[in-house]
Amino acid sequence: MTARQEGAVDRPAGRRAAPERTLDPADWASVRALSHRIVDDAIDHLRDVRSRPCWRPMPPEVEATFATALPREPMPLAEVYGEVAARVMAYPMGNIHPRFWAWYMGASNYTGALADFLAAIQGSNLGGGNHAAACLDRQVVDWCKEMVGFPASASGTLVSGGSMANLIGLTVARNIHAGIDVREHGVAAIARPLRFYGSDQMHSCHRKAVEALGLGNRALIRIPSDEECRIDLAALRRAIANDRTAGLEPACIIATAGTVNTGAIDDLPALAELAREERLWLHVDGCIGALLAIAPENRWRVEGIERADSLALDPHKGLHAPFEAGCALVRDACAHHAAFAVTPEYLEGKPRGLAAAPWLHEYGPQTSRGFRALKIWMALKEHGVAAFGALIDQNIAQARHLAELVAAEPLLELVASAGLPIVCFRYRPPGLKEKALHALNVEIMLRVQESGIAVLSDTTVKGRHCLRVAVASHRTRSDDLDVLVEEVVRIGQSLTGAESGFAAYLRTPGNPSAEGRAVR
Ligand SMILES: *Cc1c(COP(=O)(O)O)cnc(C)c1O
Repeated sequence: MTARQEGAVDRPAGRRAAPERTLDPADWASVRALSHRIVDDAIDHLRDVRSRPCWRPMPPEVEATFATALPREPMPLAEVYGEVAARVMAYPMGNIHPRFWAWYMGASNYTGALADFLAAIQGSNLGGGNHAAACLDRQVVDWCKEMVGFPASASGTLVSGGSMANLIGLTVARNIHAGIDVREHGVAAIARPLRFYGSDQMHSCHRKAVEALGLGNRALIRIPSDEECRIDLAALRRAIANDRTAGLEPACIIATAGTVNTGAIDDLPALAELAREERLWLHVDGCIGALLAIAPENRWRVEGIERADSLALDPHKGLHAPFEAGCALVRDACAHHAAFAVTPEYLEGKPRGLAAAPWLHEYGPQTSRGFRALKIWMALKEHGVAAFGALIDQNIAQARHLAELVAAEPLLELVASAGLPIVCFRYRPPGLKEKALHALNVEIMLRVQESGIAVLSDTTVKGRHCLRVAVASHRTRSDDLDVLVEEVVRIGQSLTGAESGFAAYLRTPGNPSAEGRAVR
């Protein structure tokens, strides 16, 4: 305040300046007290997560509050927080809950949350510059290389998640194989259309990537997968040969280390060999599986991953960093830099001072970047990398336990369990056809969600619709999976029992349609 008052003295006599605005609190003491309360509430929220429903629907009156207009008038921060506590914190997605097994996500962690707070307090922009946060960002990328066995000479960048990390790898692949300066001339100038290959199990983000790269969805060839849901190598070889004959330009193999459906891992050493023979770029989507490299009991499953030209991994999955945190690694650092670097005058490096460091924004499409490295860095320092590896092994052992429970229960059918933390199964009483089984299992999934006991998702594996459980939580215990199996059987039995309206529905001729939502 003194400086401001001194400044005011310089103004023409007789005019008092109005106090200038700032977003800083007027009363630091009360904001400190409120902050302490928020931290206390946050710790209770996390400590008691197991005792709350995994997910619950929002009452319509709560949902309606999210449609109110732009606030014009101020509101005390304590009241704003009161709304957050009552309407936001109370209705989470649920992925930090020990019995959340839908899709494949991480479960976050308290240290990471503290880091996100501190990152925001420091507020540094990780577009680059000569400051500690930028050094730490580079260090986390170096640690990612070390975890998966990439050489220190490789480059990398932290991004929002696996989708962006994959986009970065595929961008470098496109540019290297375009045969022209594609950054200057665009994809229309490419002589022969580029072809990218992945299995029919690959993640949907690759489609978004080839679309964003201007290559079009048809440039992405879906190669059939084998019985174990891994890319069929013979079919891949044939597709590459046929495309060459047809005058197209095979450019990139996208291997998946851990598919979303079943956790299948493509044959990485064979694909590395094939890519070398055919002079193709090998990109590995390791969003689920790359971090098996730090898990002593399971790292053998991803041997060969270090031979990729580019690799996407997802610290917000395997390292439980709070969203968002993905990482792209590229073996050829020059190719990576050449794909994104643009240096306008206002971002030129300088010999000394804040701009005396390589810019981090030259490795991806973003200019301003958040300080997402800190949450990974703090949690790795606190627990050590071995703890995260052991958790991955633990999740895989828990999935094996679930697969055993399913196999031992006559009313359940194991559909897929590839040795990864993903198990696919279905409730299968005798006498029901595929369509009825589909409707029944969807209904079981929804009722499990609505009960608040657990959350799982569903998928179709080799033509069989099934429930899908992805154990990717440091909070899950084996007995949580015992509870799941009991609940699925209990709900399945009640739905198919003589008294059940759903059973009558299943018996109605023409019902149920595979898509139809079941009636109660
Ligand atoms: C999760 C996932 C992605 C997408 O990653 P996001 O972090 O959700 O953007 C891509 N590929 C695979 C195999 C995944 O499991």
